[in-house]
Amino acid sequence: MKEEIDLAKIRVVITNIQRMCMDDGPGIRTTVFFKGCNLKCPWCANPENISFEVEYGREGLRQEKIYGCYYSEEMLYEELMKDEKFWSNTGGGITFSGGEPLLHLYRIQGMLEKLKKRYIHLAVETALQVPPKYLTRILTWIDYYIVDIKVLDRKLCRTVLHGNLDGYFDNLRILGSEGKEILFRIPCNMEYTATHENLERICRLLCEFPDVPVEIFSIHNMGRTKYESLGKAYREFERISGIQLEGIKNKLEQCTDAPVVIRHI
Ligand code: SF4
Repeated sequence: MKEEIDLAKIRVVITNIQRMCMDDGPGIRTTVFFKGCNLKCPWCANPENISFEVEYGREGLRQEKIYGCYYSEEMLYEELMKDEKFWSNTGGGITFSGGEPLLHLYRIQGMLEKLKKRYIHLAVETALQVPPKYLTRILTWIDYYIVDIKVLDRKLCRTVLHGNLDGYFDNLRILGSEGKEILFRIPCNMEYTATHENLERICRLLCEFPDVPVEIFSIHNMGRTKYESLGKAYREFERISGIQLEGIKNKLEQCTDAPVVIRHI
């Protein structure tokens, strides 16, 4: 018999729970992808995580694909705790991604508190472009912040990403003053994030956070089939070569004391 879902308890919509992840924080991690984002990055590889609603797509001619599943705090906690032994054996934990996880986590603070009582290491992967209240509500529970650096020109950020840099800088200051552990991540493309002007701005930001390590990577085109499945317009971006990434790394290394690492995706 099909289990009844108590709609009053539904808190979040999730598109994927990815297990055994090695690149989303320390140790082996379970990464949770929330559905819903306030940005519209033209290179986004996860188009299914932009709308906050459950969506329906197609795989091939006939088969329908559902993007998004409703979870209550209890359901999510039970699902995640299946991986506890992997975390404890490797110093890993859970990473909340998306979408923009900060727009969802405040709805499941009870679960976060429960996980922290069991000393589970919690991380978020965030663009950080949200009003600070979304960050401050969950600050107590989250140990590690993987923060994107994208377009640092106010006007371009607004017109290209639909973002807001004021919230971004406010939130970075909060993380800095709370002494939270941060990793910067830069998705590189020659049109927006790795232009000469934007790299200069990134350098100025890194000078303010000289101890924060940096990861850079070329944006990729792996989201194409999901765009097609959802009937959304897809735009292909040219990948940045290894030599170009080395050049960006060398430049950024001059502005920070922390390591700058190329991530190969
Ligand atoms: S912040 Fe991430 S999920 Fe949101 S649009 Fe940009 S790339 Fe996509």
